[in-house]
Amino acid sequence: MEFAFIFTKINILIIILAICTPCKFIQSPMDFGSSSLLQTTNTSSIDFGRIIFSPPSAVLRPQSTDDISLLLTFLSASSFSKVTVAARGAGHSIHAQSQALDGIVIEMDSLPSDIHIHKKLDDGHGFSYADVSGGALWVELLEESLKFGLAPRSWTDYLYLSIGGTLSNGGISGQTFKYGPQISNVLELDVVTGKGDLITCSPTKSSELFFAVLGGLGQFGIITRARILLQDAPEKVKWFRAFYDDFDIFIKDQELLVSMPDLVDYLEGFVVPNEESLLSSSIAFPAPLHSVPSFHLSNVYYCIEFAVHDFQVEPSVVEQTVEKITTQMSYLQPYIYSVEVSYFDFLNRVRMEEMSLRARGLWEVPHPWLNMFVPKFGIKKFKDLLMDNMSLNQFKGPILIYPILKNKWDTNTSAVLPDTEDLIYIVGVLQSAAPASCSAECLAGIVRRNRRIVGAASAERIGAKQYLAQQPSLLHWRSHFGGEWNRFVARKARFDPLAILGPGQGIFPRVRLHGAVSTWQ
Ligand code: FAD
Repeated sequence: MEFAFIFTKINILIIILAICTPCKFIQSPMDFGSSSLLQTTNTSSIDFGRIIFSPPSAVLRPQSTDDISLLLTFLSASSFSKVTVAARGAGHSIHAQSQALDGIVIEMDSLPSDIHIHKKLDDGHGFSYADVSGGALWVELLEESLKFGLAPRSWTDYLYLSIGGTLSNGGISGQTFKYGPQISNVLELDVVTGKGDLITCSPTKSSELFFAVLGGLGQFGIITRARILLQDAPEKVKWFRAFYDDFDIFIKDQELLVSMPDLVDYLEGFVVPNEESLLSSSIAFPAPLHSVPSFHLSNVYYCIEFAVHDFQVEPSVVEQTVEKITTQMSYLQPYIYSVEVSYFDFLNRVRMEEMSLRARGLWEVPHPWLNMFVPKFGIKKFKDLLMDNMSLNQFKGPILIYPILKNKWDTNTSAVLPDTEDLIYIVGVLQSAAPASCSAECLAGIVRRNRRIVGAASAERIGAKQYLAQQPSLLHWRSHFGGEWNRFVARKARFDPLAILGPGQGIFPRVRLHGAVSTWQ
């Protein structure tokens, strides 16, 4: 055991020396005992966005947390090193956030994805939770926890994302209005800091690190284990879609549903800009599409999607709940549809869309996505801004709009929300840009347009903030963080003082030990 540890340590040192030297002599994949360091892999410079490609010098495929700790310990003690390190979960970022140009990418999926489920006592005391590797996927956690009749409370729409990746951002979906984002549903973390220290942290133990890392954009440490809160999982879900041709009524009904957390278990909404968009968003929702309103009658429709959990105890309970909800809504009569599906299929609904897009060669294409948190007071102006800047009849992909509540977010975390009232909308403009219909020039045009929208929406009259942000300069990052910038910088100085971690976010330039003073402190 001791021998293996020393062997790995020596090998990682050799690797780091190899990377740090001006003359790159890593020529071929190398296997170093328990940890594998490879020259690069095909995936290490690609992400879901397919807009930026930054090749690293090497890739670490750790077999244990110690491998990550050793690497960061050596790098932070090396006075000549300029090497940076990015953790890569599932690589579903848009703007190279999990890439490290000329640095080292740690592919977190190589860690054993051990998942341990703890069920609360029969007398109802304590919590049910799962201990899960930071590199595991949410779908793996769902599959395992369902064996115990349990599941996490808060989700993302797509489950093939890593635990560490979404906890570094927020993790939001139709359950967020009720339970908060995924970062509000974590009890404890194991984190390797930029200095190589392995620390177990929670709201009461090393709490500054715990809150820094949640929503921390991979800047303070690498999450190797998370303890996620679980609740009883329903057998089935009653899933509804109701249509609108009036934006104000659509918004009013969303706000009505947010006010009913005891009845509604999931709430999202989306713009239906054209018939193709409706068809592609309906793959997992097996309702009769022919009876959806005709696009000849209106240029654009809106759809509220909500769900009620069905524990299959008494059939009438769900029916009564549904009636209480729908009788108060003002959707376009008679355009409301429902289906009943298993809880797993409901949560895994985007997988069906992925399969369909893959089959048509439309999944591995550029995705110039834009996600923004928009305060309630600015949502109408933001919708107009989008409409003025986009040609909706040609738009490919979903445009999500749904409300979340700020009071479900812990302000100690590093996540950034608009500094306004409690009700905030998340707007996701999830555009695909397949090369067959959108050239490199067209893609660059969409990226520029998104930048313009961010600029206009960040102004006071709308007051929006980016989610999964990309910022072109340090000044923009300062303004993104606003009043929390100083706290973010102080956390960086404490947990990753040489700015080794998370170079792909483009926030902090790497600092050399005994070198130039950092420009960001
Ligand atoms: P990566 O892209 O691998 O990494 C993202 C960032 O986290 C990087 O900075 C990386 O260095 C850092 N990181 C990764 N792992 C760790 C770790 N273990 N410790 C510390 N830092 C780490 N988001 C939502 O909130 N709700 C949604 O419904 C939603 N749906 C999506 C659907 C699709 C199809 C896609 C492509 C994305 C979606 N997202 C959604 C966005 C997604 O949550 C983020 O892009 C998230 O970062 C992806 O996780 P990942 O494992 O791929 O992260």
